[in-house]
Amino acid sequence: MKHPEPRVIVIGGGHAGAEAAHAAARMGAAVTLVTLRADAIGVMSCNPAIGGLGKGHLVREIDALDGIMGRLADAAGIQFRLLNRKKGPAVQGPRAQADRRLYRQATQAKIASHPRITVVEGEVIGLRSEGGKVTGVDLADGSGIAAGAVILTTGTFLNGKIFVGDETRAGGRFDEKPSVRLAEQMRELALRLGRLKTGTPPRLDGRTIDWDGLEMQPGDDDPAMFSFLNTVPAVRQVACGITHTNARTHDIIRDNLGRSAMYGGMIEGVGPRYCPSIEDKIVRFADKDAHQIFLEPEGLDDPTVYPNGISTSLPLDVQEAYVRSIAGLERAVITQPGYAVEYDYVDPRSLGPDLALRGMEGLFLAGQINGTTGYEEAAAQGLVAGLNAAAAVTGRDPVHFTRRESYIGVLIDDLVTKGVSEPYRMFTSRAEFRLSLRADNADQRLTGRGREIGCVGEARWRAFSDKMTALSAARARLEAVSLSSRALAEAGVDVNPDGPRRTGLEALSLKDMTVRRLAALVDIDEMPDPAIADQIERDAIYSQYILRQERDIEALERDESLPIPADFEFGDLPGLSTELRQKLIAAQPRTVGQAGRIDGMTPAALMLIAGRLKQRARQKSA
Ligand code: FAD
Repeated sequence: MKHPEPRVIVIGGGHAGAEAAHAAARMGAAVTLVTLRADAIGVMSCNPAIGGLGKGHLVREIDALDGIMGRLADAAGIQFRLLNRKKGPAVQGPRAQADRRLYRQATQAKIASHPRITVVEGEVIGLRSEGGKVTGVDLADGSGIAAGAVILTTGTFLNGKIFVGDETRAGGRFDEKPSVRLAEQMRELALRLGRLKTGTPPRLDGRTIDWDGLEMQPGDDDPAMFSFLNTVPAVRQVACGITHTNARTHDIIRDNLGRSAMYGGMIEGVGPRYCPSIEDKIVRFADKDAHQIFLEPEGLDDPTVYPNGISTSLPLDVQEAYVRSIAGLERAVITQPGYAVEYDYVDPRSLGPDLALRGMEGLFLAGQINGTTGYEEAAAQGLVAGLNAAAAVTGRDPVHFTRRESYIGVLIDDLVTKGVSEPYRMFTSRAEFRLSLRADNADQRLTGRGREIGCVGEARWRAFSDKMTALSAARARLEAVSLSSRALAEAGVDVNPDGPRRTGLEALSLKDMTVRRLAALVDIDEMPDPAIADQIERDAIYSQYILRQERDIEALERDESLPIPADFEFGDLPGLSTELRQKLIAAQPRTVGQAGRIDGMTPAALMLIAGRLKQRARQKSA
């Protein structure tokens, strides 16, 4: 049913908020974005970089659904690198260092230029509701705004507390006040809340770094853009420097651990295991005598440097001492101290797959408030919440993404079924179907779906349709030619010469085979454009595995009703995680379908169970 007030309010102008506002507006809703500071919309709180392994996949998927993060990162990218370039496409992750100011400006321009988004600068202090339904928000200046749906994306601001050594102050981010009154109302709603923490390194004045003698790392020669609509960087590209901590750095940190907010016991929240502070690294990896630090320029016209790898909650005098013990940083001046921030988060198991909070109709949560860390994870949730809030107020069906079709689906499913015990970040290893969920094919997986949902605009749809037409034509031409295995073997391809004939497309799944090599062996009517050839090669590498994967998934769907006998030993199944084993033993499901509905169950685990059940059946009948 269409809501009487088809307006969506987004609280927060961070990465979740900006993506949510744009997604809801693309779906046709009127959007009011309320944020503490309009000039801080799109601020990168920590690392001036977008993407990476798993995270880069999320950005490509957001882009495939016509979201904004990919285009913003392309507009602000000053160094592009495709991580894992030497490995297979499934685990390659696009990453770019961004000019912090350009990124912020690009975000603000994107938001300002959408005719259905209005920005209001102010502090939301409470949610309005009637009969279990959200009806709007109250602002600190006494005003209010009515809406059919509200998306909460307050990041690290709910009851935020900042720590620099033993100095503590209230704050959502450096020099920004926290959101306390809204946090109080969240507590009154009896939500399951917890505390998490994260940290950031000191910022350095690049003019005081001794760059001579430091190893420099340039970007890629052929940079991979985030957006399917872009082909080249928008601005000048720069290199970053590399240096290392040393025994003296480690001594200084070890001697002052008691003064670190985290090790001194001042912080109760759990920090991100995969993005540890320098104190954590010294304690947890005590046998390592050096840790790598990337010295990343924060912008083309900004001397600030972000030393990636030394985030900290030590006092400023200790930060100065350890920074100056590092090669190249002997004279470095700190322009902003490193700090840790601790904040409230909402247990994401209180949310549905549309990121709607159960028990309060029309309220959606996205971003760091749900226990994640990272801009990309925030933006992906913002997109999902934006689509669903707009669907709710315009009377459309909720939009769900599955683990099978996207990393977005993996992220949401992990959050709402497993919850978090530490800040959650995306990795390729979290996706069972990662061979098909590649960064390079995000558009093929999602743009058509996005068009059906209603979030993909005309320009994107035209570009995508043209690409698909070119891909189909090139595939058809490759299907039309065929080669004997002998011809392939004689050309040096690693294949049994007595094997079957293959179409050109099938031959591309062979190791080191390319369209160009193929064209030297058979007459292909028309050579595809290099970008199309590259895409066909990437698709071909995994085509056989993906076929097998599809068959596994179909088999699993058929096995739903397979009974699990009472004496089935879950404890005996090798390859099952301890967590899942314990859950299965506790729940004692009676069918594979029931096992599949246990919180956090994965398709891989279900395949193991189904496989063992069939093995038992075969043994019994033998
Ligand atoms: P944010 O970007 O924090 O945006 C929140 C928005 O909500 C802000 O615009 C704020 O003004 C607004 N807001 C809050 N309360 C109200 C209110 N009551 N009314 C109106 N507006 C409100 N990520 C990593 O991946 N790795 C790291 O190492 C890392 N370290 C970090 C260190 C620090 C110190 C911080 C602060 C963040 C760090 N991050 C890190 C996290 C990264 O910045 C966030 O994951 C990301 O910014 C989250 O996006 P978000 O949109 O959820 O929230």
